[in-house]
Amino acid sequence: MHSSTDHSAGSDPVSAAISDQSRLAWQAEGARFNAFGKALRRRHGGRVQRVSIDAGFTCPNVDGAVTTGGCNFCDNRSFSPSRRIRLQRVADQLTEQIGRVQKRYSDVRGYIAYFQPATNTYAPIDQLREIFDLALNSDDRIVGLAVGTRPDCVPDSVLDLLQELAVDHDVSLEFGMQTVHDESLAWMNRAHTHADMINAIDRARDRGFECCSHIILGVPREDHAMMMESAVEIGRLGFDAIKLHNLYSVRGTPLGEEVLAGKVEMMRREDYVRTVVDFLERVPPEVIVERVSGDAPPNYLIEPKWCADKQNIRREIEAEFERRDSRQGDRYVPPEVKPSDRPRPADATPESIRNRIDTRGRLPVLKMQ
Ligand code: SF4
Repeated sequence: MHSSTDHSAGSDPVSAAISDQSRLAWQAEGARFNAFGKALRRRHGGRVQRVSIDAGFTCPNVDGAVTTGGCNFCDNRSFSPSRRIRLQRVADQLTEQIGRVQKRYSDVRGYIAYFQPATNTYAPIDQLREIFDLALNSDDRIVGLAVGTRPDCVPDSVLDLLQELAVDHDVSLEFGMQTVHDESLAWMNRAHTHADMINAIDRARDRGFECCSHIILGVPREDHAMMMESAVEIGRLGFDAIKLHNLYSVRGTPLGEEVLAGKVEMMRREDYVRTVVDFLERVPPEVIVERVSGDAPPNYLIEPKWCADKQNIRREIEAEFERRDSRQGDRYVPPEVKPSDRPRPADATPESIRNRIDTRGRLPVLKMQ
C-alpha cells in the first residue's frame, strides 16, 4: 500500500525499476492524484467522454415515497412528478450529445451514457433493463453506463442487473453519500441516513461495476474534523471512485433562498482548496477522483461565484499538493476490516420506495424508443 514514505524510488536503477512497478500508474506518471480522465484513457486505450442523459426519472425524495421537497440544494422542479419539460427520446439525446462532443474533440474512442438528473434506479426493474439496454445499444461507440442514485434506492434486483451489464460494459453506480453525518443529511433534507449508505455499498461492492461516492464539502456546521471523517469513510467502505463538490447554491432552491437571505455562508475558495487536498490525502490511492469541485451555469448560480472558475480551482488544488509535496493517499490508514471482508447485508430499500416501484407500473414520462 502506498504511504507517505514511498514517493522516492531507490537510488540504484534496479530498485528504482522495482519501485516504479509497484506504483500505481498515476503515481508512476508523477501525478498528485488519481484523476478520472487519465484513468479512463488507461482503461479504454484512448479518450472516453461521458454524455448526460435525462431519461425522465423522478426521485423518492420529491414524489413523497420518502418525503417531498427534495434536497435543499437540488433544483428538482425539472423532475417533479408534474414535470412539464418535454423529454427527448434517449437515443436522440445520445446522438445530439455525441455530435456536440465530436465537434470539441477529434480523438474520442468511446462514450459512457450518464443517467444524471434525478434518481436513475427508481423504476420497475424491467423498465430499467429496457432503458439501460437501449442506451448501450443505441450507438456502437457507447462503451458503458454511469447511473446516479440515492443510497436507499438500490434494491438487490437493480444491483444484479448492473452486475450483469458490467460483464461486457464499463458500468459505474454513483451514490449521493454527501457526508457521514446524519445531522448534515437532515439539514440537506436527504431523507436517508448514513446507515442507508453503508447498507447499499456493502451490497453493491465487488460486483464488477464501479461504486462512486458523491461528497459535499462546506456544509454549515461541519468543521474540518467532521469533513475528514467523511474522507476516512471512503476507504473504510471500499468505494472505487469519488466526486467532490463544494456546497453551492442555485436559484429556485431552499438553499438558494437561505443564501440570498444571508442565513447560510458558502465556503471560501482558499479553504475549499486546502480541504480538498486534506481530504484526498486521506483517500486510498486506488480511488479514482472523478471531480474536485462542482459548479452551475452563471445565470443560475448564486454563491459561491468562485466555483465557476473550475479549471483554476483544479490548478490551485494541484499547486497545494505541490507546495506540500504530498499525494492522494499519503495520510490514508487502511481499516482493520478490509472492505472486501465486510459481510453483505440484507436488502434495506425502504418499503415505501419498494411499494411505489411495484405498484405504479411504468413511469409515464420515460421515452423509450
Ligand atoms: S436525492 Fe438527488 S435527485 Fe433527489 S432531490 Fe436529492 S439531489 Fe435531487
